[in-house]
Amino acid sequence: MTSAPRRLFVTTALPYANGSFHIGHIMEYIQADLWVRFQRMRGHEVHFVGADDAHGAPIMLKAESLGMTAQELVAKIAAERPASLNGFHIRFDHWHSTDTPENVELSQTIYRALRDAGFIDVREIEQFFDPVKAMFLPDRYIQGGCPKCGAPDQYGDACEVCGAVYNATELINPRSTLTGATPVLARSDHYFFRLSDPRCVAYLRAWLSGVSAQDGPPVQTEVANKVREWLGEEADAQLADWDISRDAPYFGIPIPDAPNKYFYVWLDAPIGYLAALKHHFDVGQAAHHWHQQSRTLQDFDAFMNDAQVEQVHFIGKDIVYFHTLFFPAMLHFSGRKSPSAINVHGFMTVSGEKMSKSRGTGLSPQRYLELGLNPEWLRYYLAAKLNARVEDVDFNPDDFLARVNSDLIGKYVNIASRAAGFLNKRFDGQVIATGTASNDASRSVELIKGLRGSADSIAHAWDARDNGRAVREIMALADRVNQFADEVKPWELARNPDQADQLQAACSTLIEAFHILTVYLHPVLPSTTEHALRFLNCHHQMTGGVLPWSASLQFNPEGGRIGAYEHLMTRVEAKQIDALFDAPSPTAAASTAPTKTAPAEAAPSAPTISIDQFNAVELRVARIIQAERIEGSNRLLRLMLDVGEDHPRQVLSGIAQVYAPEQLIDRLTVLVANLEPRKMKFGVSQGMVLAAGSDDPKNPGIYLLNADSGALPGMRVS
Ligand SMILES: [Zn+2]
Repeated sequence: MTSAPRRLFVTTALPYANGSFHIGHIMEYIQADLWVRFQRMRGHEVHFVGADDAHGAPIMLKAESLGMTAQELVAKIAAERPASLNGFHIRFDHWHSTDTPENVELSQTIYRALRDAGFIDVREIEQFFDPVKAMFLPDRYIQGGCPKCGAPDQYGDACEVCGAVYNATELINPRSTLTGATPVLARSDHYFFRLSDPRCVAYLRAWLSGVSAQDGPPVQTEVANKVREWLGEEADAQLADWDISRDAPYFGIPIPDAPNKYFYVWLDAPIGYLAALKHHFDVGQAAHHWHQQSRTLQDFDAFMNDAQVEQVHFIGKDIVYFHTLFFPAMLHFSGRKSPSAINVHGFMTVSGEKMSKSRGTGLSPQRYLELGLNPEWLRYYLAAKLNARVEDVDFNPDDFLARVNSDLIGKYVNIASRAAGFLNKRFDGQVIATGTASNDASRSVELIKGLRGSADSIAHAWDARDNGRAVREIMALADRVNQFADEVKPWELARNPDQADQLQAACSTLIEAFHILTVYLHPVLPSTTEHALRFLNCHHQMTGGVLPWSASLQFNPEGGRIGAYEHLMTRVEAKQIDALFDAPSPTAAASTAPTKTAPAEAAPSAPTISIDQFNAVELRVARIIQAERIEGSNRLLRLMLDVGEDHPRQVLSGIAQVYAPEQLIDRLTVLVANLEPRKMKFGVSQGMVLAAGSDDPKNPGIYLLNADSGALPGMRVS
């Protein structure tokens, strides 16, 4: 890490704000989030923003049909975004909207600069008009046969079958999808961005060959080939001008000096990337401070004009045209820098079935979270399948199950659960560093050396978005570690008291190896690895929420010992995957499920209750976000709990004699959420956390209940 820190501005494509995220969005965000987390681990400055794409006729028309304003519809959709993003550990620094003052200002400024530079034309055009609805028809509301390949029922702007982009007027047998009417041609003034100007093709060719970027071409080779096709071979090739205006009624940004004309949504949507960053800088993210860096105020213009800044966009292959022709030309000829990188990914398929943005999908990310599936299973699975090329990624349920269980549980988590038990039970958690006098067996030293020696190669793969390769290399290392365990056989050493030293040394090396793998896996499994660092007593390696990549080189648990092993991850079960694809909503399923009954021979310890009585108790998953001792009480801890509500809850819990406050931070537990608030000497307790314990004087312990990772604060326990 001798190179200077990079300055990165990273975005994902803006989802259209007329519906929930689908799995394709989540895949893209995971891909970007993973890359961003890795860059942060390398010490680079990253600003990662997203936004809702709010404008355009579809939102206007949908809001109309729901009896609300477009703004209300956009706000409603925006309100559900955080649950999905947080649910999959996708950490944008800021999530914005294109329907904001920043975007109005930036879009109009860029337009004026283009106009002043002679890149805007006004021409009267003939366009489809729905005579029943009395409005000009957006492309999405016209269907007909593709003029290139003849595929039926294609939309008015592009063909989903052959990928051709065309004008709606070219469709075969067009009809309005709003009314079914055959549209008629009507005339209106439209504003055009003059992409036909020879300077555009010349500039885009230069941009494409990497002249303006620091790290070579801004797109993958296969994307560059496609764009070159669009740009044409001949020296005097021209692009078609781009229609950037829409007539009222339209939900969008007014075009300056042009009454009743609005920017076509595709003009202001990519400018929304800049608007999101500007807002992030101007506001400084006081309310969202998960790491130090995002709290600093920055000057937007100074940042955007810094030649060192790399502007990186993650997008799907369906919107390459807009991002590689219009967007860089628009930015360049309005006096701004063009994107440094457009990272294009393929579509997501489920069991080989293609899904369409407009036509839905069988794998709902919301359902995935509702069912309590671990978000990191999906992050890992997608990482394993993603590479830097524009290939489709298939979600195959059997493959998902096999890969998660065999890799994450069988290879990774297993190392810790095997070794930590012996260290804790027999050696009070004390670890002996590999390579020191009492742990210098050559195969141990070689193992650790080999693992650390892979740091650069794995880093290179993460950096190059070759995630599948990074995962394969890490799992190959995990195989070596497990092979080491099979050779030294700690479980056999444990049977012979004379071999205690060898047992401690071998388990120490296994734990040290596990720590290295933990660092390598951190970009893809941020939550599990953070829990692992806590149990390894290595959480001090994280600063400001960021784990440096170089942490893999140093294993120095606090006090030289690891903590008690905490269950890190459960296996995926086939029935969970089944539920993901075909079950009714989980609440409906729960009410019809048979209730569990105690075995006949077990004497009931309390009178039975009805399911309604049980349901009257509101149990919810809670994350302990703060824990502190209470002066004057040696029994109570003051806990602040995130239960998915607007404000954390305070609970006073009688667990001070068995838990140190710092052990509890970030743990998930279960709260009785509808217990009457109780006024106590030290404050009001708003609920009760659940813990196990017995009356047996030989075991006075109290054991706080845990929720498996993946559970989210506020989830109902039933
Ligand atoms: Zn076609």
